[in-house]
Amino acid sequence: MAADKSKVAKLLNEQVNKEFYSAYLYLDFANFYEDKGLKGFANWFNIQAQEERDHALLFIQYMQQNDMKITLDAIAKPDKKLKELIDPLNESLKHEKYVTSLIHNIYAAASEEKDFRCMQFLDWFIKEQAEEEDNARTNIQKMELFGGDSKALYMLDQEMQARTYTAPSLTIG
Ligand code: MG
Repeated sequence: MAADKSKVAKLLNEQVNKEFYSAYLYLDFANFYEDKGLKGFANWFNIQAQEERDHALLFIQYMQQNDMKITLDAIAKPDKKLKELIDPLNESLKHEKYVTSLIHNIYAAASEEKDFRCMQFLDWFIKEQAEEEDNARTNIQKMELFGGDSKALYMLDQEMQARTYTAPSLTIG
C-alpha cells in the first residue's frame, strides 16, 4: 500500500506526465520535418521522443521502488505553431528550459523534505537537462548558419539522420 502523497511524490507524478508530453511534442516536430521532406531532422526528433518516454518510465520506476502511488493523467495536445524550419528547434530550446525548471523545482522540494534519495536520483536529470539545452542550442546555431543554403541543409539533414538511439545511462532497481 503506497504511503500518502508528499509534495515530492506529487511533483514526481506530475513529471511523469510532463515527460510523456515532451515525447508527444517531439513526435509532432518529427512529423513536421517528415512532411517537409527532411527525414534526418524527423529521425532526430523521433529519437528525442524515445528518450523522453524513457525519462517518463524512469520516474515511474523510481516511484514504484519508493512505494509512491502513480496516477496517469491525460497527455496534453502539442500546441506549438510550426511554420519555418527553425521553429521546432527554437520551441525545443524553450521547452527544455521549462523542463529544467520543473526538475529544479522537484529538487528544491526534495531538499526541503530532506528526501536525499530523491535528490540523488534527480542528479542524473539535472545533468541530462544541461545536455538537452546544449543540443537544442547547437541545432538552432546550425540551422541559422546553414539552413539558408539548400546543399548545406541537405548535409545537415544527413547529419541528423546519423543520430541513433541509446538507452539512458541511469537504471532503477
Ligand atoms: Mg526529458
